[in-house]
Amino acid sequence: MTLRDADIGQTVRIEKVGGSGALRQHFLDMGVIPGTEITLVQYAPMGDPMELRLHGYELTLRLEDAAQIEVCPLSGKIQAQVRKQGEPLPEKESSGDTNPKAMFASEHPGLGEGGKFHPKGSGDPLPKGTTIKMALVGNQNSGKTTLFNRLTGSNQHVGNFPGVTVDRKDGTIIGHPDCVITDLPGIYSMSPYSSEEIVSRNFVLDEKPHAVINIVDVTNIERNLYLTYQLLEMDIPVVVALNMMDELTANGGGVDVNEMEKLLGVPVVPISAAKNEGIEELVEHAVHIAYYREKPENRDLCDKQHKNGAVHRCMHSIEHLIEDHAEKAGLPLRFSASKAAEGDQLIIERLGLEKNELETIEHIVKQTEAESGLDINAAVADMRFSFIFNLCGSSVIKPRESREHLRSRRIDRILTGKYTAIPFFILIMLLISFLTFNVIGAFLQGLIELGVGTLTTLVDDALTAANVNEVIHGLIVGGIFEGVGSVLSFLPIIVTMFFFLSILEDSGYIARVAFFMDKLLRKIGLSGRSIVPMLIGFGCSVPAVMATRTMPSERDRKMTILLTPFMSCSAKMPIYGFVIDALFPDIGWLIYIGLYFLGIVLAILAALLYKSTAFKGEAVPFVMELPNYRLPGVKNVLHLMWDKAKDFLQRAFTVILIASLAVWFLQSFDLSMKLTADTGNSILAAAAGILAPIMAPLGLGDWQILVALVTGFMAKESVVSTLEILYTGGAAAAMTSLTALSLLVFSLIYTPCVAAIAAIKRELGGKWAAFVVVWQCAVAWLIAFIVHFIGIMLGGV
Ligand code: GDP
Ligand code: MG
Repeated sequence: MTLRDADIGQTVRIEKVGGSGALRQHFLDMGVIPGTEITLVQYAPMGDPMELRLHGYELTLRLEDAAQIEVCPLSGKIQAQVRKQGEPLPEKESSGDTNPKAMFASEHPGLGEGGKFHPKGSGDPLPKGTTIKMALVGNQNSGKTTLFNRLTGSNQHVGNFPGVTVDRKDGTIIGHPDCVITDLPGIYSMSPYSSEEIVSRNFVLDEKPHAVINIVDVTNIERNLYLTYQLLEMDIPVVVALNMMDELTANGGGVDVNEMEKLLGVPVVPISAAKNEGIEELVEHAVHIAYYREKPENRDLCDKQHKNGAVHRCMHSIEHLIEDHAEKAGLPLRFSASKAAEGDQLIIERLGLEKNELETIEHIVKQTEAESGLDINAAVADMRFSFIFNLCGSSVIKPRESREHLRSRRIDRILTGKYTAIPFFILIMLLISFLTFNVIGAFLQGLIELGVGTLTTLVDDALTAANVNEVIHGLIVGGIFEGVGSVLSFLPIIVTMFFFLSILEDSGYIARVAFFMDKLLRKIGLSGRSIVPMLIGFGCSVPAVMATRTMPSERDRKMTILLTPFMSCSAKMPIYGFVIDALFPDIGWLIYIGLYFLGIVLAILAALLYKSTAFKGEAVPFVMELPNYRLPGVKNVLHLMWDKAKDFLQRAFTVILIASLAVWFLQSFDLSMKLTADTGNSILAAAAGILAPIMAPLGLGDWQILVALVTGFMAKESVVSTLEILYTGGAAAAMTSLTALSLLVFSLIYTPCVAAIAAIKRELGGKWAAFVVVWQCAVAWLIAFIVHFIGIMLGGV
């Protein structure tokens, strides 16, 4: 039978993993290897994909991929012999100290105390004054960003979605000004499955950090140690940070740190990044191994008992064979050998092996496959996991099912339940928009408007009293205060929006949305993973475009990037708000939702179009971890809100301020550079006139609107500041409802701002970026035209 035929709740054992290439390697790296027990937890509400549990964590898989995995049901007899994942070890195995608290507290070699892993001073210390480079490497969602923030005091965004960290971030360690640490993207393995994995791997290989801090989520230790194993193969100084120790011990688990150090041959430090425990010790060890260049003690990471030592012999044979090549290429030997065995083309090329050597490797591989009964990729992964299971068997006391996990399962019964998932999703989205636009955001917005209004009057009066030059007076009040002030009042709404988005992300809910939306998204040629950038796109397109980097398929990635401009990003909100306040104050909320909805519908249509033209082909498989729900850290959320507020204020006082001043200036002077009272004669009006014939069919032929749209290219909020300056009599008097609707629709769709275009250019290149600008404008024109046309047919003006 295959995994697809399993029943809900049934546990089966994997016999054979089908498929090919990078995806199959990814399965293997995630622990989907022959011999593993796997339980079918549930199907997504639409029947696909399925949620599985293995090695103590949850994974999603599509039915068609599950059909490639052959399994056998566990009969009662076998089941009795095999320890269920997560169950505590039988009495005899967990000999000695079984009090987890005591084990957690147990001493382990300190610095230079004769500890085996810190032969103080015997190493070869770095020259004095060297800047120590460190890298933070770990699985997605293992707490890297939390730890990074602890180490550097910086406030990087922390999320509970696998793969939130998508860009490389550097920082200096607090108290160690000569130590620079880089937060690398979260990865599961050193195989080139996603572009993230290649980035991280190349960083370690080429930038040669002096030390790697490998962060391991102890509540999910086996899968996390798989990456540790591969780091050790790379023969660089590593210190293992066992994170989430608080959760493990609270649930009755524990780690014999001394034993684990002995088996791994590197320092191991139990920490809790969230609770700020063990961080100092971790830094001490990391600095020490970096300074004394202490590489892993354990050079032979083979499980010699595994399959009669077949893989062990394979590895060592290849090591001997390629020793000179690895040295010449500057690659770690053991790492090169296992990658050569796995058939990793990138590494094989770098090694520059000759034909004979390649053939010899092929023979060795064939022999290993024959002896182990598995193909080489499965055999290597299996051997690694076998080493890890032995290691954990003798050094880890598994916790009982954790409170966090139980809670997650209970929450999931509703939030991913067959009949409840989608209604709850819609409800949550509605609630968020209601709270953002109507309750919290709107209330605070009122306060700020009041403040800005009062200040404007005060300044206005003061300037009049002081008899200030008319031009300067106009510039200050009409340009700066009107322009920037009108945008400032949107700060609360935007910050509230990011607050909710970050809660969704941080709690682990977005991963669930990806899970149950996968089937729908596939219909339009995307995968569940695309939902993350889309939702982030409601905040801002720039991080949304960057968030696509975790997507393993280039095709999905490109398509998702091209769809993000359709999302109503937070900078478009002021435009909606401005127009709604002026013309539709009574049905504002409906219009907000209508615009969000229109954006989504257009994105779907665009996806269908892309799918049947430029991006033919199938979406790639959907393999994703479902993390436990976690309460978002208050500090992280506050940090994020502050970051976004800062970002917004920065823009308000740079781009938007400059645009406001330019607009004010150009509308005050006519073509002969004389101050003009009638703005209709101004330079601006004349220049905008050029665009008028194109935009008139949309009802947007007014030069004020044209100028506003052009400034909106710099930052969408500028549309508002510009209109505020140019419509001296107020927008309500100047626009008809039909014009207003047309403007809203056009603003939603037309070209993203420069920052977003720059991000797209970085990810896809200049051609695509140019395409996005032209294409979005064309679509915007078309849709606004349709809206305008229907409006006129219905008798609007
Ligand atoms: P990253 O994806 O590896 O960067 O992981 P994050 O730093 O974003 O953390 C993922 C989740 O784990 C967040 O919800 C954190 O609050 C939580 N977390 C991080 N460290 C700890 C810890 O030591 N203990 C507990 N209980 N939770 C943690
Ligand atoms: Mg992160």
